[in-house]
Order: sequence, then structure tokens, then C-alpha cells
Amino acid sequence: MEALHVKAPAKINLFLRIIGKRPDGYHDLHTLMCPLALYDTLTLSAGGKGMVIDCDHPGVPKDESNLAARAAHLFLQTVYAGNTPPVSGLTIHIDKKIPVGAGLGGGSSDAAAVLYTLNDYFGRPLSRPELMAMGARLGADVPFFILGRPALATGIGDRLEPFPYLTPWTALLVYPNEVVSTAWVYKNLNLRLTKDEKKLSKFHFDGRLFNVDEHLVNDLEPVTKKAFPVIGDIKRLLLAHGAAGAMMSGSGSTVFGLFADPERAISVCTALCDNQQNKNWTLYIADLLI
Ligand code: ATP
Repeated sequence: MEALHVKAPAKINLFLRIIGKRPDGYHDLHTLMCPLALYDTLTLSAGGKGMVIDCDHPGVPKDESNLAARAAHLFLQTVYAGNTPPVSGLTIHIDKKIPVGAGLGGGSSDAAAVLYTLNDYFGRPLSRPELMAMGARLGADVPFFILGRPALATGIGDRLEPFPYLTPWTALLVYPNEVVSTAWVYKNLNLRLTKDEKKLSKFHFDGRLFNVDEHLVNDLEPVTKKAFPVIGDIKRLLLAHGAAGAMMSGSGSTVFGLFADPERAISVCTALCDNQQNKNWTLYIADLLI
């Protein structure tokens, strides 16, 4: 097996409404997710024994809990159940560019990239729906990254419907270097949504173009913002600098601003980077992959 290189994109949530809590403890939600041109790069190579994760990012686990390693295990165990797998060992090098614990889905995207790369390499033993079902066992966002395009997700985020009603946007992402635990955010979520809000969330799009003024909403933002007020500061800054809209992605802590003009996004990025007060932040510019 020659070394296989694959790019795993980040995502942002353009719309995220929590519908309610399920008896199994998960939350039902309704979210619009879009991949971004900000990528981890993974290199898969055969050799040795077992699974080795090679990544110099301190926040990424190097053991079997790494989502990329779990994806490779699951794929090989399922497809070659009872037979000798075609590789006895696999090294996965991860060049981590997507910030970790930032609401940008980096771990899930790495897992999806491993699944479709191995599936392609071994002659596509699994269909796309089978691969997505396998991904759902690793994490709710993994099927979205296997689909690889904008999608409305329902259920726990795993039921997907492609969403072709997006216009081009450039996102300026601000990561305040605060790692947020998704589990903590859901634990602290206040579920007292009105019936009207719930109804609205279900019928919000109906084949219409995504509209920043009307649709940009994230029910998780107030929860994370309470613990990390910097999220509100970043939002205000992005809007003051001319973003058409600004919001936290997923459970945070990354905040994105949307710009129709990529040049404007670049000049705002430069202005924010030049301000010493923001020196703990990391900024990225990435087009939405529509
Ligand atoms: P989520 O909302 O799914 O938690 P996120 O985008 O906020 O996603 P990730 O960057 O995916 O956060 O990381 C979440 C946790 O997953 C981290 O704390 C990390 O320890 C673990 N993890 C496991 N595998 C990976 C991976 N390949 N890349 C990044 N994090 C990973």
C-alpha cells in the first residue's frame, strides 16, 4: 500500500436549533452544516503492527481513542471480519490545522476521511450509505463529512438532507484558544424552548435560499458564551467590522463572521491580527464549500 494522502475539511453550523432531549440522553436537533476550505491533512501508510497515530498537536490523542484510529479499526474489523485484514498495521499521520475542541468538527472529519479513503483503496467494499452508517457509530457528525457537502441534519445530527440553497460566502473564523467540551455545553443547556420556536425550527427552510438575517441562529451559543464571554466580544467585533452575520459554530468556541467579499474578510483579518489585545486568538479565512 503506497502512502495515501487525504484532506479533511472543517465545518461550521449556520443554523442550530435544539428540539428536545431524548430518553437515551442525546438531544434531537435541527442544524444546517457546511464544509469549509480549512483542512487537516492525513497520510495513511501500511506497516508495522497495530494502529499508530502520528500527530504533533498536544490536544490530539495518540492512542486508540483517536477518532481516526477508531475509524480505521472499525472499517478493517467490519469489512474483513473473520479474515486476515490486508494490512497488519497502519500509521496515520495527522497534520492538524483545524483547531481542536473548537466546534469545527475536526475529529469527526478525520474519522470520515479515514473511512472513505480506506473504502476507496480496498475497492469500495461498502456503499456510500453503508459507510455513512458506519460513520454514525463513531460520532453524529461523521456521516455529514462522508456526504461532503452542505446538509440539513436532524435526529442527533445523523439524518441528512443535502442543502443546495447557499450562496458563496467567505468565513473569517476566530478561535479564542478556549477548548470547549461539547458534553458540558449540552449538560448546561436550558431546554425551555417555546412551542412556536420548535415549530419554526422544523419548517424554517422549505427549499428557500439561506438568509443570514433570518436564519443565522445557534441555541448552544448562550450556554458557551456565559462561560466564555470572549465569544460575545468577538461577535461584536466581527459585526462592527462589516460581517453580514456572526455566530459561534457548534458548541464553540470558534466564532465566524460571514463576508460576501473575500477581500473584505482579508482586510478585517489583518486589522484584528494587528490589535495586540487579540493576541491569544487564532484567525483563519476559509470559503464555504457549497
Ligand atoms: P465535537 O463537537 O464533536 O466535540 P469539536 O470540533 O468541538 O467536535 P474536535 O476537534 O473534533 O472538537 O475534538 C473533540 C475531542 O475529540 C478532543 O478533545 C480530542 O481529544 C478528541 N479527538 C479524538 N480524535 C481526534 C482527532 N483526530 N482530532 C481532534 N480531536 C480528536
